[in-house]
Amino acid sequence: IPVLGLTGQKIAVLGLGRSGLATARALRAGGAEAICWDDNAAARERAEEEGFTCLKLTRQGAFDDIATLIVSPGIPHLYPAPNPVVAAALSAGVPVDNDISLFFRSFATRDWDNFETMPKVVAVTGSNGKSTTSALIHHVLDHSGRRTQLAGNIGRGVLDIDPAEDGDVVVLELSSYQTELARSLTPDIAVFTNLSPDHLDRHGGLGGYFAAKRRLFAEGGPDRAVIGVDEAEGSFLANQLSMGPSDDRVLRISVDQKLSGPGWNVFAKKGFLSEYRKGRQAGSIDLRNIKGLPGAHNHQNACAAYAVCRSLGLAPRVIEQAFHSFGGLPHRSQIIAETGGVTFVNDSKATNVDAAQKALGAFKRIRWICGGLEKEGGLGDLANHAGEVVKAYVIGREAANFAMQLTGVDAEVCSTMDVAVAKAVQDAQDGEVVLLAPAAASFDQYDSFEKRGEDFIQLVQNHTKR
Ligand code: ADP
Repeated sequence: IPVLGLTGQKIAVLGLGRSGLATARALRAGGAEAICWDDNAAARERAEEEGFTCLKLTRQGAFDDIATLIVSPGIPHLYPAPNPVVAAALSAGVPVDNDISLFFRSFATRDWDNFETMPKVVAVTGSNGKSTTSALIHHVLDHSGRRTQLAGNIGRGVLDIDPAEDGDVVVLELSSYQTELARSLTPDIAVFTNLSPDHLDRHGGLGGYFAAKRRLFAEGGPDRAVIGVDEAEGSFLANQLSMGPSDDRVLRISVDQKLSGPGWNVFAKKGFLSEYRKGRQAGSIDLRNIKGLPGAHNHQNACAAYAVCRSLGLAPRVIEQAFHSFGGLPHRSQIIAETGGVTFVNDSKATNVDAAQKALGAFKRIRWICGGLEKEGGLGDLANHAGEVVKAYVIGREAANFAMQLTGVDAEVCSTMDVAVAKAVQDAQDGEVVLLAPAAASFDQYDSFEKRGEDFIQLVQNHTKR
């Protein structure tokens, strides 16, 4: 989609990866001039091949005639120290913004006279479950025949989507990096799944991290907020946003408590999802046999997706049917093989302690492959959630240190995935689950969590063949 409202202006673009290039193209399509920079020469070359001007943005006077600086999400722009280009822009009085903001300014003019058919934007944020929730919302809408596009951190880049038509729903997955920067954040429905410590190195602690996510719910923000209230922060946010206990604009979700009260609530207990509106039951779904959504954490995602789809007018039965055909996402509690009575589960995306904890809670009799690049904040009380773990097989460059923190868990230092999978396969008994849920980032041994998950899948194949 072309960027609107910046015709004839010069806009600086910092970072020329996928989203940076898409931004430059969308600016050009809207009649603005993109002045690009990336420290990587190859990235600059690619941009120049497409006819974009690259100029070093830290040189004297670089921002003299620039209207805005657009920063890619991969670039730590503020913390622990301001990025030099960002600092140069700020000291020249140039606002700093991102592609998400350009999207909100450009996607479909808001035709309030035709509210019902107006294209809608659903934005999903939270520490864990964003991708699964976004994909599930998209899947249900698609299943029900609505035209829908999935973008942001998942699917396409926000500025790569097709122009909106009546009745469209764009589902955006937004990370804290994206919400932190965007000056314009105006979704119709905003979702906050949950909060646990993550990415603290870039946000200056949990307070900064929550503040970044909270920006999605700023004044003049969403018409409807779907909020996970199982942590203090979400509960606080829901109370703060609602205009009274029966305010329908705030929809509370929980997998921890039976939500009562006059408002609009969706909760899942013991595998049953219930919707209550104004004190009366308005819908329910038995989640226990839904293969693509195992574990309480996925029931939370189901509650969030259900709440959004109900907000958009879908019937409970339609949502239930669509849940049954949801295949789940790769690397998230993904069952990759069932052989010799042993189930193999790839949850390589469990890059933080909370996600791993949830994965450990979703299965029984677990041979647990964990470890990698530890997140700031350590492993917390992860060992206390390892009650179903028969044995841990620890990988990563710091495997010994990682294993030492798992007090009370039978943990073997394996260092590499190859050794860990070989040992787990050898040890696994009938009815057990071999689970990769690292509770750590992958970058000490892999390029990405996807590569780590693919390696696991490959090794499981190799070792179970023998
Ligand atoms: P995100 O996009 O927020 O990283 P994903 O859907 O990709 O979320 O899931 C990330 C990790 O967290 C996976 O390991 C997954 O199994 C786990 N997870 C998924 N949903 C939740 C949830 N609601 N709460 C906690 N952990 C979750």
